[in-house]
Amino acid sequence: MKQKAQTEYRDRLDTISGSGKRKWVFAAKPEGFFTRLRNYFSAAYFLVFFSLPFVRVNGMPFFLLNFPEGRFILFGKIFWPQDFFIFAVGMVMAIIFIALFTVIYGRLFCGWVCPQTIFMEMLFRKVEWWIEGTHTQQQKLNQATWSAEKIIRKGSKHLVFLLLSFLIAFTFLSYIISLDGVLQLFREPLSRHPALWAGLLLFSLLFYSVFAFVREIICTTVCPYGRLQSVLFDQETMQISYDYRRGEPRGKKSSAAPTGDCVDCYRCVQVCPAGIDIRNGVQMECVGCTACIDACDTVMDKIGKPAGLIRYASEQQIRKGTAFRFNRRVKAYSTLLGVLSIIMIVLIASSHSIDTYISRAKGQLYQEQPNNRLSNLYQARIINKTNRDAQVELRLEQIPGTIQMVSGHSGTLKKEAVNELMFFIIIGKEQVKERNTKITIGVYEGGRRIQTIRSSFLGPFM
Ligand code: SF4
Ligand code: SF4
Repeated sequence: MKQKAQTEYRDRLDTISGSGKRKWVFAAKPEGFFTRLRNYFSAAYFLVFFSLPFVRVNGMPFFLLNFPEGRFILFGKIFWPQDFFIFAVGMVMAIIFIALFTVIYGRLFCGWVCPQTIFMEMLFRKVEWWIEGTHTQQQKLNQATWSAEKIIRKGSKHLVFLLLSFLIAFTFLSYIISLDGVLQLFREPLSRHPALWAGLLLFSLLFYSVFAFVREIICTTVCPYGRLQSVLFDQETMQISYDYRRGEPRGKKSSAAPTGDCVDCYRCVQVCPAGIDIRNGVQMECVGCTACIDACDTVMDKIGKPAGLIRYASEQQIRKGTAFRFNRRVKAYSTLLGVLSIIMIVLIASSHSIDTYISRAKGQLYQEQPNNRLSNLYQARIINKTNRDAQVELRLEQIPGTIQMVSGHSGTLKKEAVNELMFFIIIGKEQVKERNTKITIGVYEGGRRIQTIRSSFLGPFM
């Protein structure tokens, strides 16, 4: 990308020309410490993403987000719409988490975790380099007239892009309707699942168009998180920064005038997939991919200067010339992020696989029973969220008495079903010492108490 007027970047995106046309980014291939680290990290990322739908726990997918049917499985545990509060709490915590995380670590998520960046830079971009060559070769190929070589290179690149997009769409759908659900498409006639086929092809085309054509526009225009960051950053936010104190005035070392460490080689601009010049300061297009750090470190190494002219640092640290360190605010926010994560894990781990709700039947008082006893009528909903039938028994705890079923029975609960029961609790009058007597009902599966429900037993006015 050619040098621009110093303030031009403030007026429009670097990837938009003065006439409003898109400028295609031909990013050069970075090499260095962060690129190696990102290669390892993304390999693990792809391994998890593509293999997780194959992992099953007790015959169930390890991870499933079936929005159409309102059925969710996280870490092998089924969650139903009744567990909505966990999702509500999770959403609130996620928003707090994202806000805090961004205040401290800036666009770390965008560069290292966001699927858009990971798939684009660590998969599709690599295919492009592999088939079309370096960024300058790609430029030449684009400008060249159509020839057999151009058709073969462009055609094979788009073919691989389409196959990869199909694979991503296949995996993505496996997270929504399960691997078995998607595999049905290939085992049964096409006419049996037209909607699923349409969904698979639609997602494939969507991913293909995003990674082949739309690219960085997702980050600059579509992604709400990218827009949100402008209001979350402050002077202490960690970001990828150019050390202008050390780098300026930039220029060739051979020039007579004194210069800083930046040799104005434009290597950091050439590798940038967002097409920006990080030396202009923080810009919303930057996705924190670290390519410019590696590019500049390589240059610094060649000219015998210390690495880190472009590095992870806050604006304040660059201004004061100090190194990045974990200050009190970073530590406090990080601790809070840790606590939020633990709360979420506990919430997920403590959710019941067999969930019981018991309440006294509405509009009913107590009933007199033979042998100087009283009864109350109760209704229960027992939700068996597991994928197996379960043997469940209700027991009255801490007080002598009996449970007598009226409708339904608390024996075998059908798998993945809501079981409705009505039952009497019958206790001796001598146990009823006040209008509302507190009672405890244990829910047992296979002789093991899985839940304890507290309710009340209505007696006569004393
Ligand atoms: S400025 Fe650097 S970190 Fe930001 S997108 Fe460009 S290369 Fe990546
Ligand atoms: S790579 Fe480093 S030396 Fe080269 S232009 Fe960028 S900041 Fe300056």
